[in-house]
Parts: sequence; C-alpha cells; structure tokens
Amino acid sequence: MQNPDMQTENDRKPDLDPRGRKIKILATIGPASRSPEMLRRLFKAGVDAFRVNMSHGDHATHAETIGNIRALEREVNHPIAILCDLQGPKLRVGTFKDGKAVIRHSGHFTLDRRDEPGDETRVQLPHPELFGLLEKGQRLLINDGKIRLKVIRADDDEILCSAEVGGVISDRKGVNVPDAEVPIPALTEKDRRDLAFAVKHDADWIGLSFVQRPEDLAEARKLMGGYGALCAKIEKPMAVRRLDEIIELSDGVMVARGDLGVELNPEEVPPLQKKIVNATRNAGKPVIVATQMLESMIESPAPTRAEVSDVANAVYDGADCVMLSAETAAGEWPEEAVTIMDRIAVQVERDDAYLERVRLLDTPPDRTTADALSHACMTIADTVDIRAITVFTGSGSTARRVARERPSVPMLVLTPSQRTARRVALLWGAHPVATKDIGSFEEMIAKGKRMALRHGFGEAGNKLIALAGVPFGTPGATNLLHVVTLTGNELDEYDAQRALEPG
Ligand code: PGA
Ligand code: MN
Repeated sequence: MQNPDMQTENDRKPDLDPRGRKIKILATIGPASRSPEMLRRLFKAGVDAFRVNMSHGDHATHAETIGNIRALEREVNHPIAILCDLQGPKLRVGTFKDGKAVIRHSGHFTLDRRDEPGDETRVQLPHPELFGLLEKGQRLLINDGKIRLKVIRADDDEILCSAEVGGVISDRKGVNVPDAEVPIPALTEKDRRDLAFAVKHDADWIGLSFVQRPEDLAEARKLMGGYGALCAKIEKPMAVRRLDEIIELSDGVMVARGDLGVELNPEEVPPLQKKIVNATRNAGKPVIVATQMLESMIESPAPTRAEVSDVANAVYDGADCVMLSAETAAGEWPEEAVTIMDRIAVQVERDDAYLERVRLLDTPPDRTTADALSHACMTIADTVDIRAITVFTGSGSTARRVARERPSVPMLVLTPSQRTARRVALLWGAHPVATKDIGSFEEMIAKGKRMALRHGFGEAGNKLIALAGVPFGTPGATNLLHVVTLTGNELDEYDAQRALEPG
C-alpha cells in the first residue's frame, strides 16, 4: 500500500542514530508514559514499538495516546509500530467495599453471582460460564497466582473455596482456572469493539490474548478485514499444544509469560520460551518475549541481577523483541527501564558468542530464490566487510526471510509502504525507512547508497548488500543481490542533480 503523503523521497535527516542492537524493544504505554514528553524520552532511550493495552483505559484515552505516538513518529521521522493488545477472555473478580480485602490462609472464600461489593468472605465473579462448570478440587488462581483457592463445593450460584494461599485481593484482579476448559470465545464483545477501534486508528499489530485454537485466529483475521498484522499471545496450555498451527496462522507471536506461568507451572515457562522463540523464528515471523522482564523497576531505579540475566537470556535466545509492561505503563522509572533494557541488549550483542549461540538454531532455507538469496546475504556479510543489507520490499516478506538468517549486520528496510515500514519495527535487525518507490535497477542502487549514508549505516569505502526483486513491486519476486561500495558523495550528487531539475 502506497503512502499518499509520500510524493517525494523522504530526505529529512532522521532524528535517530542506528540503535546499535538488532533486538527490538516494545514498551507498554499507560498513565506513567502517555504524555508526548515521556513518549519522546522513551523513544530516545530505545523504544522501537509501543503497546496499547486494551485491558486498561478507555477509547478516548487510547486515541489520544495513539495520536501522541504518531506525532512523535513525524517529529523524529522514523517509523514506529503500535501494537493494540486485546484483553481477550480474561476472567476477573468484581469489586470490594474497601477496594480490597484480605483472604486468610486456609480460610474459606466464596465466589458468587451477587452484584454487590465484596469483603473478606466473598466477592462477585461476573462470569456465568464458570458456575456449574468448576468442580471440587479444581484450582482458582487470583492475581497472577499469588492467591490460590481450591474448590470445596460448587453449584449454579456459588463456588465455595478454601484458601491454600491467602493474601490481599483487590478490585477486578485476574482469575485463572487452569484445570477447566472454559467455553468462552477468544474474542469477547469488548474485544470486538476494541478491535474495531484499533483498525480505525491504524494500529500496525493486533495482539490476541488467550488464544486456544487456530479458529480463534481465523475469527480475528476475519474481523480485521485484511488489515494489520496479527500477534498470537501464547498463554494457554492449549495454545502450546497446537503451537505450529497457531504460528502458521499468525504474523507474529508473543511469549506471554505472565499468564502462561499461572496456567502452567512457572518452571515450565523457560523451556517453552526457547521452544516458542525457535519455532516462530524458523517460520520467519517476529517473536516477542514479554512480562516481568524488569519487574522490580516498577518501584526501583535499578533492576535485580536476576532480571538483567533474564533480559540478556532472551537476547541470547534470539528473540526479535523484548517487552516492558507495568515498568513503562505504570512504574516510577519508565525511562530508566528502557535505558537498562537497551544497555543489556547492546552488551549481549557485542559478545562474540552471541551470533554463534543464536545460530545454533538450524533454519534451513525453503527451496525458493528468496531464501537462497537471504542465506547468501548472511554468508556474504560473514565473509566480506559489509556494513548493512539494504532490502527493498513492499510487503516486508524479503526482510523477514533475511532476518530469519540472523545476519551479522543490520538491515535497512526500504519500502514505499508506510504500513510495512511500521510493521517491521518489531523485526530483528530491521531499520525501517519509508521512501518513494523505485523504478529501475540504477535507481535502486543509488537510493540504497543514499539511504545508508543518510541513516548512518556506512561511509566512504564501505560495502553494502542490496537485495530486491525485479520487476519492482512484484510480491515474492526477490531475485537480485548486488554488492556495492559507497563513494561517500552519493548525497551531494543527488542534491546537485535535483537542483538542476525544473520546478
Ligand atoms: P498481559 O499479557 O500483560 O496482557 O496479561 C502478557 C502476559 O500474560 O504475559
Ligand atoms: Mn496475559
């Protein structure tokens, strides 16, 4: 899709130095970060994409946030991805008289259908589906599993539980029921309204929560009407069982460790993180590692050593993207959290063993010209001193196939589609530039060189790889790889030539 605003080459110098890392940072926006000033600071600190969490806030606030992000994008002249994350069928308790209550260890606690504020003995569970479904002995986990209830007796009106682990429960805390298969569609009425909102406001990615079946994705896709990219959040045991089918039907995947670690045992999450990262990457799609990455930074300006290791290990796993949740949405140190995350990623990627480790995953090329050339890009960049790979793409598909190879140098992704430019902001190693379309081989080479100079991906004497498909604009036609050397005069020559043109 062509950006109608882009009649001329985007030749304003971007307000961004190359990030110096290939993994991307996705930051959740909330009360702590939605002001134009804080968004700008987070972007400067390293954020490549912003997540709007539809679980909180209203449409008017989200519209303002999205407007602020788009204004920032124009100001810094660099494509930014927006991921609108749908709440999905997340179960929650009702509210409490005092906003919260304490459930005593080994005491009794009742969940019922009464629309009245709760106390230390009971609260409303506003999900009729669960009554008559839960059985004696099954678990209810509240507030990310911090409170553990076991069903003693359940009927159509009440679920009486004993508290195996008690604690403070507050308004609208989340409930997981890992032992039951809940007959709830993946998209609630609220999700449908939120999805329509996201489409209307041009979100680049839609996050689908609590995916259980491939059909859930098909349903979301239908409602999206061919628009936007779909990210499946893996947070249910059911989704893990059908992982390959789910990856196949998505444009990207999130390892949603928060709910995944409640639905399963927490110790099952690390091996699954590696498995999901590998499977998604092998499919040539971006994969995000999410939740509690720098959790202590919600309140503290410095992370724990364990959190630093967790972020570092996600980078070593070869993920495309790491995510911040409450750290940036509601924490006291949003900018510091991004800065730390950026520093960890840069440090890991400087390690000589980084690429070696990431490439332990075998990603055999499909028997296509595009994959053969993507693989060649990787080996050429390992053999010759190359500064960047300039990739010309309409849909972003060529960039995804190159990223799958995890080459040693960054990709400058040049595309006439602003939507593609934004979407690849989540992709490993991709530095997107939305620019006017090219018509000829000469134009492509000249533009690739100019853009590398303008965006700080090379100087006089440096070599670049140019990757494209001719005829230009034919999807899936990647068939051309060219190695070029910068003279360093390409920008001046272009300006001089333009000065001679009439008008
Ligand atoms: P959430 O998803 O923050 O929307 O719950 C991420 C997760 O569960 O880890
Ligand atoms: Mn979740």
